[in-house]
Amino acid sequence: MIEEPPSAARFEFPFREGRRDEGRAFVTAAPGKTCGACTMCCSALEIHDLDKPAGPLCKHGLACGGCVIYPHRPQVCRDFECEWLTSRTMSRVMRPDLIGTILMEDADSDEFRAVCSPSRPMAWRDPKVFAYLVAKAKAGRTVVAKAGLSSWRIFASGRWAPTI
Ligand code: SF4
Ligand code: SF4
Repeated sequence: MIEEPPSAARFEFPFREGRRDEGRAFVTAAPGKTCGACTMCCSALEIHDLDKPAGPLCKHGLACGGCVIYPHRPQVCRDFECEWLTSRTMSRVMRPDLIGTILMEDADSDEFRAVCSPSRPMAWRDPKVFAYLVAKAKAGRTVVAKAGLSSWRIFASGRWAPTI
């Protein structure tokens, strides 16, 4: 098992019931959207089914994008979709690997999260990412940014503060 770096985020790979895909482009992906070279969810997230800690790229992942065991990857991998992949309005520049953050629903709470790459722990402060998070908060969501063991709550006013 790969050791978890101190800065690694601690989240589970969210599992969503009922989602199925027939390729790297998920069935509920927005038109024109594919993961492409992004491997953020294969690295930044903890995946219990694969005994994978948050931070390092999954042992089955390719740095250039893609999965060596793709036809046999676990269901948990088949079912995950980030906000960017399913959104019809988020532009290409918001793809997770480009902004250093996975924008996503948390499967175990009502939180909307920005899960940052360990190499870019403050990526959630990027103006375009932060604006997106504030908009979510204004829409009534509980918004939390995560980086390693650190968490920040983002409020509708644009204020933010450390949280647990
Ligand atoms: S983080 Fe989103 S865009 Fe990137 S590989 Fe995962 S599902 Fe695809
Ligand atoms: S098994 Fe494949 S799809 Fe699943 S986390 Fe590893 S590289 Fe990504």
